[in-house]
Amino acid sequence: MNDPRIRRIVIVGGGTAGWMAAALLAKALGAGVAIRLVESAEIGTVGVGEATIPQIRHINRFLGIDEDDMLRFAHGTYKLGVQLNGFGRLGDSYLHAFGDLGLPLGLTPFHHYWLRAVQERSRADTPDLWAYSLNAAAAAENRFAPLEAVPDSPLGGIRYAYHFDASRYAQYLREHIAPGAVQRTEGKVVDVRLHAEDGFIESLQLDNGEIVEGDFFIDCSGFRGLLIEGTLNTGYENWQHWLPCDRALAVASAPGGPMRPYTQASARTAGWQWRIPLRHRVGNGHVYCSRFISDDEAAAQLLANLETEALGDPRPLRFVTGMRRLAWSRNCLALGLAAGFMEPLESTSIHLVQSGISRLLAMFPDRHCEQQLVDEYNRQTRFEYERVRDLLILHYKATERTDTPFWQQCGAMEIPPALARRIELFRRTGMIFREADELFTETGWLQVLLGQRIEPQRHHPLADALTTEQLDGFLADIRTLVGRAKNTLPPHHEFVARAAGGLAA
Ligand SMILES: Cc1cc2nc3c(=O)[nH]c(=O)nc-3n(C[C@H](O)[C@H](O)[C@H](O)COP(=O)(O)OP(=O)(O)OC[C@H]3O[C@@H](n4cnc5c(N)ncnc54)[C@H](O)[C@@H]3O)c2cc1C
Repeated sequence: MNDPRIRRIVIVGGGTAGWMAAALLAKALGAGVAIRLVESAEIGTVGVGEATIPQIRHINRFLGIDEDDMLRFAHGTYKLGVQLNGFGRLGDSYLHAFGDLGLPLGLTPFHHYWLRAVQERSRADTPDLWAYSLNAAAAAENRFAPLEAVPDSPLGGIRYAYHFDASRYAQYLREHIAPGAVQRTEGKVVDVRLHAEDGFIESLQLDNGEIVEGDFFIDCSGFRGLLIEGTLNTGYENWQHWLPCDRALAVASAPGGPMRPYTQASARTAGWQWRIPLRHRVGNGHVYCSRFISDDEAAAQLLANLETEALGDPRPLRFVTGMRRLAWSRNCLALGLAAGFMEPLESTSIHLVQSGISRLLAMFPDRHCEQQLVDEYNRQTRFEYERVRDLLILHYKATERTDTPFWQQCGAMEIPPALARRIELFRRTGMIFREADELFTETGWLQVLLGQRIEPQRHHPLADALTTEQLDGFLADIRTLVGRAKNTLPPHHEFVARAAGGLAA
């Protein structure tokens, strides 16, 4: 290797992961590195994935994407959080809202002031925690508009993500962002050749006989993990004992009813059902555990719980929750479904693609792919996946439901020690600490912990520094500011129709 620099990157797969990787790498690396993407129309893409989290807006900005234009193309609407129904108890409902909740005072996180109010009176006599979240207040009334900050106050504004057709998003990247910068090849990879001396990938052979050589390969081939598993055999860590759902049925339904600016996830007898409003249809799906419910029964539950008429038959998908033991091995990096899968309860998969690409760029190797770099990438990836996994497990573990064998098993399961520690710390002290740069913030964890009925026994002693009058005034002021800001926001469907360019046919 005279010139050790990477000059040719080959991406296998043209799903959301492949096209996100292609667009971002082309933009970040510039003309010095040739990016080639191989995709197979015959194999197709997974074709689901409609809910995102706010971080996606960073990459859109980096790529220079016009948000309105992209959302029109991908039939997008706006998302303020996820409403979780029936997870703690039948009939429960809470929002995991994006954005701020209240305002810290000095060193003391806001929720300790709210906890103090609850503990001095009762939860029934205290305004709800979500009365301090602008996102939650807007979501409750189906309102939406971007708002940087609450005017004349230190409170943050609306923090939002999108609901969209992820296949159309990938197509948008392909047609609007990547042309000229990415060489696209239609073809099926039928063989992979390795360098004899180090086992690095040398080239791919396509079904038309063409050989595609590269210095670095990105495996975005979906669940099959064509390179990372099929060729390099890195192994898969199975998390089904914690996240037991293994199948999904997806079906679109006609638009109708309120255009809610949030994803809905509603627990069922052996899993849960999503509802995601797009401009031209509603996306629905039932994620379930095949040990506890038949496919027919799962389909019947899904269809019985649609708000509008189904547009076709439910489409089946199978998966194994877990992660690839090594997302990066030799000169191959796996992204998207090839790297691992966690169910879409908190809409994290597309984000994990994005953070994988950011991490690769931060650690961009030369052709040697030094083992220390590879190890560091894999260590950080594992940390990120495991913390997301733990938040998902919390939705199942912290349940009081015993009405079906599935929920009985969830409530009784052993959980990872880091999650057990976090739950016990919160239960005893009300304290939550975000670990390093894990994805979910204290505010995210707080909402899920409380929403799943884990009640802290005390609040932070520093929250006692206020007098009762000061505490009441502080809480009331924030509620007033949140309520006033919420009232300035238009209905979500009006904003989509007006500012974002109309409801597509
Ligand atoms: C039920 C379900 C619901 C989901 N919901 C969400 C959600 O709400 N939010 C979210 O963020 N994520 C969600 N996801 C995840 C999301 O769909 C994926 O993360 C995302 O679509 C990326 O998929 P991918 O590109 O990795 O794989 P795929 O879409 O499967 O693409 C694989 C690509 O590889 C190509 N390929 C495979 N083999 C070969 C070969 N031999 N030669 C050439 N090309 C090949 C295929 O043709 C295709 O282009 C969901 C996933 C599932 C299963």
